[in-house]
Amino acid sequence: MKPLVLLSTASSQRDSGLRRVDSLTGQNYSEALADAGALPVMVSNLAPQLAREFIERAQALILTGGADVDPQLFGEEPLPGLGHVDLGRDEFEIALYRAARERGIPVLGICRGIQVINVAEGGTLIQHLGDSEGLLQHDQRNIGPVLSHTVSLEPDSILARALGKGSIRTNSFHHQAIKDLGQGLRVVGRSSDGVIEAVEGSAGSLVLGVQWHPEMLWRGHPEQRLPFELLLRAVGETQAVLG
Ligand code: MN
Repeated sequence: MKPLVLLSTASSQRDSGLRRVDSLTGQNYSEALADAGALPVMVSNLAPQLAREFIERAQALILTGGADVDPQLFGEEPLPGLGHVDLGRDEFEIALYRAARERGIPVLGICRGIQVINVAEGGTLIQHLGDSEGLLQHDQRNIGPVLSHTVSLEPDSILARALGKGSIRTNSFHHQAIKDLGQGLRVVGRSSDGVIEAVEGSAGSLVLGVQWHPEMLWRGHPEQRLPFELLLRAVGETQAVLG
């Protein structure tokens, strides 16, 4: 059976047509997973109490991109550069992450997802990178599937070992980044300005977070299939244990 991979979504209030909240994320995440041999399933932001049951039926979890994490979750007041936040999504995703770690299934966090992982592990975020001296452009203007900046990887990271080299070219669509690192995480990738672009869990089943969007790139840039392939490789390793 193909592994079932749970994908988190955004809750988005419609402003035309039927007045309701849509559960949304990019179809390109599901396409990348289906291409890699998984069965992707998107899940709405429901009560955190349901997270454990969702995780019991899944073989892996992807925390997808989206809005900013509410700074109250890492002990800060909102600063002027903070964008839209959704506490309901934050709380459901953190519950999914904790349940996944408890059960021992692999987790991949993409863009907002790396930030949710960090906050769930007790870390903090830079609320707005802005245009401080020495920073690269992290909110690239070309919104197509094109590369923007380079990420240097730790030689012994799972990404570098699978790539067979110490750097990867990525896209960049974020205005926030990890500040203080959460527990049990290791920084494995940075852009040349020092911004944290990739983390791994230091123990247990795979935790991989990337600050870029491989789901936008995998068709034209085969290296960007790697985060999805590593997730599914980890599923193979954990299923032998979980049964
Ligand atoms: Mn970046």
